[in-house]
Amino acid sequence: MNKLKAKKIKRHMLKSYEFWQIDEKFLVVSPDKKLFLQEGLETLPDSESGYLAYAYLDQILKIAFLGFADPEEETYRYFESEELLVVPASLLPQMLVMVVKPTLELNGHPFVQGVLALHEADALKRSTLALRSLDPLRDPLEPGILTACFIRDEAKKRQVYDNLAGDLQKRLEAARAEEEAPEGLPELPAVPDDYINFVRVKDLTPSNHGSWRAVLLDNLPGTRLKKKGDDVTISMVTITEEETEQTVLFVDHTASVEGTGIKVASHKPSRLPWRLAYELDCPDCPYHETFFLGRQGDDHQIFREILDEIRSGKIDPLILIDLVQSDQCELDFSRELYRCRNCGTLDVKNRLRLICEDRSLSSAYNCPACGERMSLVKRNQIASIDCPDCRKPLNLVSEKQWSKGGVKK
Ligand SMILES: [Zn+2]
Ligand SMILES: [Zn+2]
Repeated sequence: MNKLKAKKIKRHMLKSYEFWQIDEKFLVVSPDKKLFLQEGLETLPDSESGYLAYAYLDQILKIAFLGFADPEEETYRYFESEELLVVPASLLPQMLVMVVKPTLELNGHPFVQGVLALHEADALKRSTLALRSLDPLRDPLEPGILTACFIRDEAKKRQVYDNLAGDLQKRLEAARAEEEAPEGLPELPAVPDDYINFVRVKDLTPSNHGSWRAVLLDNLPGTRLKKKGDDVTISMVTITEEETEQTVLFVDHTASVEGTGIKVASHKPSRLPWRLAYELDCPDCPYHETFFLGRQGDDHQIFREILDEIRSGKIDPLILIDLVQSDQCELDFSRELYRCRNCGTLDVKNRLRLICEDRSLSSAYNCPACGERMSLVKRNQIASIDCPDCRKPLNLVSEKQWSKGGVKK
């Protein structure tokens, strides 16, 4: 039995949980009787304690059953058979599941590796899944499909509105001239619905010069400029109404569709890289570790490696969106120490920071041991961190300059 190292296990009803948020997550499914009544699930081997499953988006949300799990003992064991049972999540009955964040170990399952590789190859289209404000526009079963608004002729719509408002004004003035009190307040003119249409789009992706693009799933009423299946420019507008933000997608059928290439330069640090090796030692247990932080001096090669990772889709989706949309941006990178907010695991990551004209964005990292979010440990905090194994304060034994060849004496 392998240990499930998740300490923050949350219970959710599978169907009531917003499906796109459990994409790429592991589930502990209880051996509910309802489960076996479902067609296609009768091949699931018996278990008293439960099952380990994997939820992932493949157009629709699917659930792959990987093995047995025991939520009491927090353990799991993979099925021996190579054939896995995969079912659409929508087929499963309402039942309680526990969501387990992906760890390095769980993600190592061959089936999961296959899914992650497919997802990485599709990173650009998947990047907009990270934009929570779009959730209400997504199809509940197929989240890759969104509803967008199409206004064929903005000028005409305004004209119609102005005409209606003008008529109203005239009627009010006429009523006043005859000194007749109008019966109640006249209604404000509503724009006829024919000027606003809703169409479905898919594959919403960021594109160059701050734009967005998507593929039309419907024909646009009243125009032949774009039809079903065509790429189209989308503008994303966020409006705040009564303190709630709402995002609306508009189809811009006359704008030319932009590309999705990435142009980025390596950020030149203004000061010399602060390259230090920190040696930490636990007074109470065998934990002893040296962390090599800062830049390595072979920046050119690291930058190339980072670009390769971006091209293969191994990148924070929010950084990818900005990378594609920005006309001028630079990537800064430096080896930094990260600490898990949940289990205290320490790990050195290449801190990736995207610097654009007006802002910067740092890549987020998840813990390899428990899957929770990690926080950057600032250099002045390194002397006061706790041991990840026993939680006693660690001693900072030494702080030395290092180079590619190793630590300088
Ligand atoms: Zn952790
Ligand atoms: Zn310790």
